Parts: sequence; C-alpha cells; structure tokens
Amino acid sequence: MDMKKALVTGGAGFVGSHLCDRLLKEGKEVICIDNFFTGSKKNVLHLLDNPFFELVRHDVTMPYFVEIDEIYNLACPASPIHYQYNPIKTIKTSVMGAINMLGLAKRIDARILQASTSEVYGDPIVHPQTEDYWGNVNPWGPRSCYDEGKRSAETLFMDYHLQNNVDIKVIRIFNTYGPRMHPNDGRVVSNFIIQALKGDDITIYGDGLQTRSFQYVDDLVEGMIRMMRTGKDFTGPVNIGNPNEFTIQQLAETVIRLTKSKSKIVNLKATKDDPAKRKPDITLAKEKLNGWEPTIQLDEGLKYTIDYFKKTLNL
Ligand code: NAD
Ligand code: UDP
Repeated sequence: MDMKKALVTGGAGFVGSHLCDRLLKEGKEVICIDNFFTGSKKNVLHLLDNPFFELVRHDVTMPYFVEIDEIYNLACPASPIHYQYNPIKTIKTSVMGAINMLGLAKRIDARILQASTSEVYGDPIVHPQTEDYWGNVNPWGPRSCYDEGKRSAETLFMDYHLQNNVDIKVIRIFNTYGPRMHPNDGRVVSNFIIQALKGDDITIYGDGLQTRSFQYVDDLVEGMIRMMRTGKDFTGPVNIGNPNEFTIQQLAETVIRLTKSKSKIVNLKATKDDPAKRKPDITLAKEKLNGWEPTIQLDEGLKYTIDYFKKTLNL
C-alpha cells in the first residue's frame, strides 16, 4: 500500500514543526506549506534531508492544489503580538485559508483538521470551558482578528461538512508551550523564561491573578493525531488542553524557581480584553480520543523549554 500523505499548513511554526516530526515518525509522507511569517526554516532544518518531507513556501490565502490524504490546517500567527501586527492579514489567513483548504479537501476527498483555539470562548463566563459554551468575544477589540477569524473558520468547517460532506475534525487548542516557540513572539511562557535566563525583570501584565492552563506541545500533538484517527461521525469541536490552571503570578514564580534566577517580578499595565481565566474541560477529549489526557505537567515541560532556550540563545 502507498504511504499516506499529509499536508501541514503552518508546518514551519512552533506546533506545526513538532507535528511534522511526529507524522514522519508514523510513516507518513509530509508536505509542509508555510509563508514563514512567524515560522522558520530552522524549525524543520533537521527534516530537509528526509526524502519523505517537502517544504513549500506558500501563503494559504492563495489556493494550493496537491494530492494528499489528510490536511492539518495550522497556518495562522498565534501570539497576540504577531496576530495584532497586521490584523487584516490575520483574519484573511483564518478565513481564506480555511476556504482554500476546505475546497482542496472537498475536491480530493481528504480528511481535514482545523487548529482552532480556546480564544473562541473569548473572556469566558463559563468556567471551566466546555465545548457547548458559545463564548464571550468582543467582535471589534484588539483580539478580534484572531478570535473571530478562528470562529469563522469553525463555521466554514461545519458548513462544508453539512453542505458538502467534507470529512472535518475541529480541535480547540488551549495555551501550549515548548521548544521552538519563537523567542520574540511575546507569549507568556517564552517571555518569562527568556527574561529569567537573562536576569531581566519578569513582566506581568496586570495584577497577575488572571489564569491560564498550560499544555506541553507533545501532549497537543498526541491529541491531534488521535483526533485525526477518530471515526467520520465525530467532527468535534473538542478541547485539547491541560486542565491544571495557574495564575500568571504562579507561572512567574515557577519559572524563577526552575531557572534559579535573580529576576524581579514587575507589574505592567494589563492588556485590553485579556481573558481573566481559562481552563479546559477535557471530558469529551478523554471519551472520544481513547482516554487521551496530558501526561507532561508544568514543571517538567518548563524544564524542557528552559533547556531549549538556554541552548538556542546561548544563555
Ligand atoms: P506559530 O506562529 O509558531 O505558527 C504558525 C505558522 O503559520 C507559522 O509557521 C507561520 O509562518 C505560518 N503562517 C502564518 N500565516 C500564514 C499564511 N498566511 N500562509 C502560510 N503560513 C502561514 O504558532 P503556533 O503556536 O505553532 O500555532 C499553530 C496553530 O495552532 C495556529 O493556527 C494557532 O492559532 C493554533 N493554536 C495555538 C495555540 C498555542 O498555544 N500555541 C493555542 C491555540 C491555537
Ligand atoms: N502575559 C504577561 N506577561 C508577558 C506576556 C503575557 O503577564 O510578558 C500575560 C497575558 O496578559 C495573559 C497571559 O499572560 O494574561 C497569557 O498571555 P499569552 O500572550 O501567552 O497568551 P493568551 O493571552 O493568548 O492566552
């Protein structure tokens, strides 16, 4: 039998590059398309000699045609600093990227997975967040280009499924961290680690009482692979995240402890529309993804990430 071929959009990014590694290990042929906005060839450099890996510079706002069996649609900047840099491009990437990839899936009868996000819940009133919660999103705030883009993409996925019987899978990813995060992308885990390693002030936006639930990247990739293997009748959306919830203050203290840093914590102005709390309910994922649950908790995952930044930034 032929090897299965997978297309990964945004495959040179943080999560996408780990997914490419894993798909190749599973014996798949992988085509990675990326416009290198926040991703980098460096993230997949170690794969370039692999004859079953192909790297293509392409922007998903333009159509792309290729014969493949499954599509993982990850192309979209994920950190607030990057997605707010060019908000129109961000929403175009989510919406036109979804249309182009769904059109491809329809045409060649491929299964397609959308990397959606916990941001579809906005600043949630329901806690922890379950998949049936519709969310609390500001449609014209600084986060809207990302949140509403991802919400529209979910709508498009469901409409292509209902109208054209496209075989879709939708996962809602909660804050994920690990090696290969972009050092300048401004997300909290990479920021705090780099600040701690350099001995700079640790910058908390606001009072630090806001919460997030942090997932190590390998747990996410395992969830993605399992989701892709579920039966056609299960489309999702399904939450993929680690339900252990921390305040941002606790995260800062943990990073300082693990790096043995002398950095001080400073409180800066809170950012607009910053969700006050976030924690996934993963009951559905456990049930539908064969008992899937995160296996790497914060201290362990942070240690791997700290080692990565120490090595790559010579700190
Ligand atoms: P990332 O920014 O590292 O990766 C995104 C990748 O998409 C990059 O390689 C970037 O160059 C590429 N890209 C952006 N716009 C593109 C376009 N128009 N055409 C082609 N490629 C384009 O971010 P990440 O953390 O790896 O996130 C991957 C996916 O997972 C994103 O869709 C993101 O929304 C989703 N997600 C991530 C998290 C998280 O915490 N990491 C949480 C929720 C959802
Ligand atoms: N944050 C912070 N200091 C930083 C970066 C982020 O206090 O240097 C806070 C941010 O305000 C938010 C949380 O950490 O409350 C998570 O931010 P991130 O950008 O990582 O992800 P998101 O807000 O998209 O969950």
